[in-house]
Amino acid sequence: MDLRQLVRDVPDFPKPGILFRDLTPLMRDPQGWQEVIRQLSSLCDRLQPDLIVGIESRGFIVGTALATTVQLGFVPVRKPGKLPGAVTGVDYALEYGTDRLEITSDALSGGQRVLVVDDLLATGGTAAACAQLVEAAGGTLCGFGFVAELAAQQESHHAGDPATAAPHDGSHLVSRAPRDGLGVQPQKQAGLHWVGLHVPMGRLDAAAMAELARLVRTHGSGELRLTEAQNALIVNVPAARIQALQAEPLLQRFRPDPSPLQAEAVSCTGNAYCSFALIPTKGTAQMVLEELEQRVELPHAVRMHWTGCPNACGQPYMGQIGLMGAKARKDGQMVEAAKIFLGGAMDAGPKLAELHDKGVPLSDLADVLEQLLVERFGARRRDPAAGPSPSVAVS
Ligand code: SF4
Repeated sequence: MDLRQLVRDVPDFPKPGILFRDLTPLMRDPQGWQEVIRQLSSLCDRLQPDLIVGIESRGFIVGTALATTVQLGFVPVRKPGKLPGAVTGVDYALEYGTDRLEITSDALSGGQRVLVVDDLLATGGTAAACAQLVEAAGGTLCGFGFVAELAAQQESHHAGDPATAAPHDGSHLVSRAPRDGLGVQPQKQAGLHWVGLHVPMGRLDAAAMAELARLVRTHGSGELRLTEAQNALIVNVPAARIQALQAEPLLQRFRPDPSPLQAEAVSCTGNAYCSFALIPTKGTAQMVLEELEQRVELPHAVRMHWTGCPNACGQPYMGQIGLMGAKARKDGQMVEAAKIFLGGAMDAGPKLAELHDKGVPLSDLADVLEQLLVERFGARRRDPAAGPSPSVAVS
């Protein structure tokens, strides 16, 4: 069922320049609305909340329907002055000015798991404030549920795209793999593409920058973009230039189709630029990952986060495997080492990784990680007789 068809776009409402996504046609369609609640219920199955919290005012419509279906209690979060008795509130910034949300002070207790629901997710400011409020009132936020998500408010105002009416699954943008923007991708402009290139460990030296500048002038429009995941995008490449671009030697190093391990790796600066670092983070990570790619094949990506010291700029607790610079004793000597953390997640069920090993000497790291990849992540050892590994295509 295409729920998008049941969302009405109303231009210039409630004021000129605003494109209003009207969900009332969806609500009055019995099958459509039941499908919305069914999908939100399956989110509850996954996140196991104890309570549903709805944000004033349309969050009440979604929240009460959902709470009734999944047989949980419902708690309203309201604008100031609407709730009787003692309340807990948070002030938050809007694009122009501030606003406030309030909840009855004794509505949540003992760290109850709370799912926050609303009709639309636009900038996320109100949802973030509500999350803060839930925690301040003694609850534990376990996720969000939205009927529709506007990818970007600005885009929805100007592009006129239909609203996304599929219920939000509670995941966050950070759960999208960094490689999502890599490879050859069609642009909105007919006949043009962007080519996303993976920059290993985000290390872009002057020579590579100069070469990228040449590539964008030769194959694109002279424009290069750098992404949040520290990759590079060559934009406005005509279809006729793609093959020639793919044949450029730099694309052997900055690949459009990096291996799953390299594509997902995150690393802090390390001791090349940071005096806190206990190990050369990026260099070690690159060397170990290349070694692992020779040794194992993976059925899926594994996100490794490398960080040089306990300041944790590389967010080791968020990695499926986290590595933190340390010292360890080997053969009677103190040597550079890495602590290993396992089990971090950034998706709808976020989780901090837990310490698995207090310190593996860097010289043993590839062996230890190989074993972990095989035992815990379904990796298969390559046949050494088969020679060097082929490049692994990432879909
Ligand atoms: S984690 Fe430590 S070593 Fe890495 S950049 Fe931060 S302070 Fe420096």
